[in-house]
Amino acid sequence: MFQALVILLIVLILMMIICVAAVNKNVVRNRNHVVHLIWTAVITAACYTGFILVRPDYPALAYFAAGLYFLSTDWLVIYLMLFVSAYTRMKPPSLVPRRIIGLLGGVDSVSFVVNTFTHHMFELKTEFSKQLDISYWHVQLKGFHVLHRVFVYSIVLYSLCVLAYSLVKAPSIYKNKFSSILFQTLSVVGLNIFCSAMDAKFDYSVILYGSLAISICYLALYASPRKLLRKIHSTIVQDSVIGLFAYDNEGKCVGVNQVARELFGSQEDIYETAEKYLTSWREEQEDNGENVVCKDSVIEKEGRKIYLYVSFQKFLDEKGRNLGCCFQFENRTEMINRFQEEQYRATHDELTGLLNRDAFEDVAGRILKDADEPYCIVCSNIRDFKLVNELYGTEAGDRLLTAQGEMIRRMGRENSASARIYADKFCTLMPRKNLNEQVFRDNMSALIEQNQVGAFKLHYDIGVYEIQDVKEPVWTMYDKAMLAIDAAQGNYEESVSYYKDEFLKNIMQEKEILSEFDDALKEKQFCMFLQPQIANDGNIVGAEALVRWIHPQKGMVSPGIFIPTLEKAGLIHKLDLYMWDCAAQKLDQWKKQGKTFSISVNISATDFSYLDVCEAFRELLDRYDFDIRKLKLEITESALMKNVKETMKAIDGLHALGYDIEIDDFGNGYSSLGMLKDINADILKIDMIFLQETQNVERSTTILKHIISMSKELGMPVITEGVETREQVDFLMDVGCDMFQGYYFAKPMNLELFEQQYCQATG
Ligand code: C2E
Ligand code: CA
Ligand code: CA
Repeated sequence: MFQALVILLIVLILMMIICVAAVNKNVVRNRNHVVHLIWTAVITAACYTGFILVRPDYPALAYFAAGLYFLSTDWLVIYLMLFVSAYTRMKPPSLVPRRIIGLLGGVDSVSFVVNTFTHHMFELKTEFSKQLDISYWHVQLKGFHVLHRVFVYSIVLYSLCVLAYSLVKAPSIYKNKFSSILFQTLSVVGLNIFCSAMDAKFDYSVILYGSLAISICYLALYASPRKLLRKIHSTIVQDSVIGLFAYDNEGKCVGVNQVARELFGSQEDIYETAEKYLTSWREEQEDNGENVVCKDSVIEKEGRKIYLYVSFQKFLDEKGRNLGCCFQFENRTEMINRFQEEQYRATHDELTGLLNRDAFEDVAGRILKDADEPYCIVCSNIRDFKLVNELYGTEAGDRLLTAQGEMIRRMGRENSASARIYADKFCTLMPRKNLNEQVFRDNMSALIEQNQVGAFKLHYDIGVYEIQDVKEPVWTMYDKAMLAIDAAQGNYEESVSYYKDEFLKNIMQEKEILSEFDDALKEKQFCMFLQPQIANDGNIVGAEALVRWIHPQKGMVSPGIFIPTLEKAGLIHKLDLYMWDCAAQKLDQWKKQGKTFSISVNISATDFSYLDVCEAFRELLDRYDFDIRKLKLEITESALMKNVKETMKAIDGLHALGYDIEIDDFGNGYSSLGMLKDINADILKIDMIFLQETQNVERSTTILKHIISMSKELGMPVITEGVETREQVDFLMDVGCDMFQGYYFAKPMNLELFEQQYCQATG
């Protein structure tokens, strides 16, 4: 029995040394604490072995060895405490208590050494065991030994508490890490107490100290971390956001995690599903020897699309033998949906859901690139949309646009693209054959009917550009369709208009006119032509001043070409001022020469907006000396109707100065007769349409007759323009017309010619 104990102790010491050697090879967490613990256990066991081997003849040596044994238990528990602190990651006792513990340990150690001589801690007696047939040292503890026990057990108790606390606090997967060490320590302590209480011949707990050290070494450095790692791995796999199918080397499914179950789970066995998945993957994918293959894939679940990023991985051992494989499924649905949503928002108009401007350019460009049939671009525009917003609020405007967007979307077909370009401008690119004007018109009318805004009469314009060159920039095509709308503006019947090349020419021409106008005016390229006005006795009474542009390159340009452009651009007043000046200057000259002709000048509708017309004509009187009744002012009836109040005021002012006002183009407008009662005009100039009428000649002549007789009653002289034939003159004479102007007498001519022909004659 004794020999067995000694052998056991020696074996234990050797095992501990082997342990230290093994631990030293690996860099693992807490290694140093474990090594210190084992070394103190080695020393404790060695001292105890030494002590029990001391023969009864050497009591001093026995006292010394036993003292060493006891004092090394002090350090054994101190290192145990330090290990526990490190292992549980609990803060070790702070510096002061640590020093106190060290000091107490030191005092206790010294006390045990001194005990060799003083025997105040314990006494040794040799006893003989008949049973074992040996003499052994019986340890009799003395009073001071209690202090050693209190010290040792306090430290052990503290360590046990720390372990117990960590055990309670730790999440379940970490509990095992603490429980095994806690229970082993507890049992060693229990056995030690038991040995002491039983007053056994030998302290068997020494063996347990050693075993505990080895066990701690194994548990703390190897078993627990591995177990924990396995648990963590399996938790990661199970709770991962990535789905997983794992297979063995024969393709049998050996693992499916929760995410994969949710992705592929159905009535069928999930393992079977996984195996089928592997089979179909292998059929689809050719094996090019790579260990990892990734691809995007889409599956359907409950009618929803799920976007997966699938990674397939083969596992091989170091000799290249197949160990198994796995699929990882990253669910990218949310990311892709978000991306698609963002992309949608970036390319679509928020209000109508149609494409936006930029996206339209892209999509239209792509469609036209592959176009193998004629295409067209259709644009629409709500006339006076701004007014809808202003009168009924932007909400009403938005409702209208949404409805239009909805209608356009409904009409959309394959190979077409529709967009809201901005505000109320919509645009669709479509194959020419799909454009059904009638359907478009019907839809538009229905839209207007359903979305009537207050009393406002909505009107749509539709412009179509039939694409001739698909390589043209999309915006040029769009502009051309819009140009068709511009060209049709004002035409209330035709709601679909087609682009014609001349529209573009007109625009270019307008641009040219506007860019050249100022210089042309300065350089006096504009000339006053005169067209004679003849009285019914055959004598010339005067002339109408008509402008001509003598262009250095183009030659003579007639006013029909540039006057509408200048009016649109708000520039006509500059030209009119110039013409009025020319006329007044000529009258001044003629007065000096004793000639009595009058000159009629034209006043444009927009002149009243840009000029103080009255003041302009007053200034002429300052500048030139002429008879005011000889400068006659022609204002068209449509100009009079445009801004009634303002023009009336100006006319009153002109009258007050002494000028005669002629109503030009009478009968060409809408409210000729009504206007006559309000406007204080002096002369009526009847429009040439009555003479040009070829279909209803009779009706025209009747109207003419009545206009003339009515104006007679009003006391207004009448002049008819556009007289081209002798018959017309005769008829007009019959019905009492006072004056005539027209090609029958003369065309407009330059001043030189006019003076040559008429001034000599009348003198
Ligand atoms: P308007 O004031 O009605 O001028 C009469 C137009 O009829 C002139 O055309 C004249 O040449 C033309 N005409 C005269 N007799 C006959 C005829 O027997 N048969 C036909 N078919 N036509 C005849 P024009 O000179 O081309 O002027 C066109 C328009 O341009 C004028 O119409 C007038 O509204 C405007 N306009 C001309 N000069 C000026 C100007 O200095 N200032 C402003 N604001 N407008 C002007
Ligand atoms: Ca005129
Ligand atoms: Ca006229």
